[in-house]
Amino acid sequence: MGQILKLHNQLINKEISSLELTKEYLKNIKKKNNLNAFITILEKEALEAAKEADKLLAEEDCNILTGIPYALKDNFCTKNIRTTAGSKILEPYVPPFNATAVNKLNDAVLLGKANMDEFAMGVSGESSAFGPTKNPIDETRVPGGSSSGAACAVASNQAVFALGTDTGGSIRQPASFCGLVGLKVTYGRVSRYGVIAMASSLDTIGPITQDVEDAALVLQAIAGKDKFDSTTPDVIVPDYIKDMKKSIKGMKVGIPKEFFYVEGLDNDVKQTIEQAIEKIKKLGAKITEVSLPHTKYAIPVYYIIVPSEVSSNLARYDGIKYGFKAAGAEELLDVYEKSRAQGFGDEVKRRIMIGAYSLSAGYIDAYYRQASKVRTLIRKDFENVFKQVDCLVTPTAPTTAFKLGEKCQDPISMYLADILTAPINLAGVPALSIPAGEVKGLPVGMQIIGDQFRESDILRLGYAFENA
Ligand code: GLN
Repeated sequence: MGQILKLHNQLINKEISSLELTKEYLKNIKKKNNLNAFITILEKEALEAAKEADKLLAEEDCNILTGIPYALKDNFCTKNIRTTAGSKILEPYVPPFNATAVNKLNDAVLLGKANMDEFAMGVSGESSAFGPTKNPIDETRVPGGSSSGAACAVASNQAVFALGTDTGGSIRQPASFCGLVGLKVTYGRVSRYGVIAMASSLDTIGPITQDVEDAALVLQAIAGKDKFDSTTPDVIVPDYIKDMKKSIKGMKVGIPKEFFYVEGLDNDVKQTIEQAIEKIKKLGAKITEVSLPHTKYAIPVYYIIVPSEVSSNLARYDGIKYGFKAAGAEELLDVYEKSRAQGFGDEVKRRIMIGAYSLSAGYIDAYYRQASKVRTLIRKDFENVFKQVDCLVTPTAPTTAFKLGEKCQDPISMYLADILTAPINLAGVPALSIPAGEVKGLPVGMQIIGDQFRESDILRLGYAFENA
C-alpha cells in the first residue's frame, strides 16, 4: 500500500488526526532546517488547515488527500503567501490568487513553499537566491534540481508529497537523486495556471512522491481541463489507480539505443538500468531495441528554445509590476536596469542574454527557427517509436547525485545533466522516474516514457516494477 493511502486510512479510522500528523511534520521541518528545503514555512497556516481537515474527516466529507501534509515548489502562486520562484526579484511578491493545482489540493495541508533553482533554471538547486538545498542521503551532495527543496522535503519526511515543475527534467532528476518517484505529465495534462512561467512550450507540473501509487493519486487530483489554461485539452482523465494495477504481461517496452550512449553516462548507472530491464522482462514485458535518431540534437535545441522563451517570459520583471525594485533608481530605464541587474542571478541573466540573441532579427532564422524545426524531428522520432511500443525505458540522469559546488563553474556540464530528460519535454510526452537501484549508496532513477496522455501505461509499468 502507498504512503498516502496508509495515512488516509489512519485518518479516517481516527488512529491519528491531521493536526497531530501536521505537528509531526512541522517538528521534522524544524529539526532538518540545515537541509534548506523550504523558503517559506507555513506553521500557523498549516495548523489551521489541519484543524479544518479534521472537521471534514469527522463529517466524512473528505477525499483521499484531506489532511495530508504536503509541500509546493515556490513557483506555484499561493494566495496571500509569498511566492519567490527562488529569485531575489520576486522576494517580496505576494500573489492575490492560487494556482489551479493548489486549489485542486485544497483539502490537503500545505506545510510550506519549497526551495528551488532560480526560476526553475538548474539541475542542482544551487542557483536559488535562498541558498542551496542539501541531499538528505548525503549532505555533501546536491538533491538535484530545479525542484530541489520539493525532493529533499519528501525524501527526509518533511512532507508526504510535493508538487514540482518539469521543463527539462526538474521533477524526474531530483526524484532520481533522492530515491523518489517523480512524474512529468504530458504537456497540457495538468493546468499551469498560476505557475510562474519558465519556458511556456515545455513547462509541466507534477508530483514528487515516495511511491508510484502516491504519484497516481496526486495526478488524479490535479489532472484535467482548466478554462484558465488553454493548453489543457478536453482529454478524458482515466482512473489511474485502476489502470495502474493491470498486469504488464505482453506490454511492449522499447529500449532507445541512443539513450545508452550519451555523453557522460556513468557505467554503473547504465548497468543498474540494464539489470532493471532484465527484471521487467521477467515480469512478462516484451523488450525490443528501438531508435530515436535525433536524440543527439536535444540538448542544443533545448538550450536555444528555453533561453528564447525565458528571455521573453522574464521581460515582465521590471521592478515595477512585481516584487523587488532597486533603491536609488531615478528614471524609468534606470529602474528597469538596476532592478534586473540586482534582482536576477547569473544563470537567469545568462539565459536572458542567449535568448535575446537567438530571437534577434539577424539571428532568429539561424537559431530559434532552426531549433524549432529540429524539435519537430525529435517529436516525430517519439511518434514513430510509439507506433511500435507502449513504453520506453532509459536511465533518468547520466550520474548519481554529484557534490555541492562540483559543477558550479561549468554551465555546460550542468546542461549535460538534462541529456536524458530534456528530449521528453521537447516531444511533450509523459515520463516517470522511479528508483531502480543504487551505486555506491546513492540512488539511481529509471525513466519510463509513454505516449501522449498515456500516463496510465508508465504508471502501470512503474507500479509492477516497484512491487517486484
Ligand atoms: N535543468 C533544466 C534547465 O535548467 C531543466 C529545468 C526544469 O525542468 N525546470 O533548464
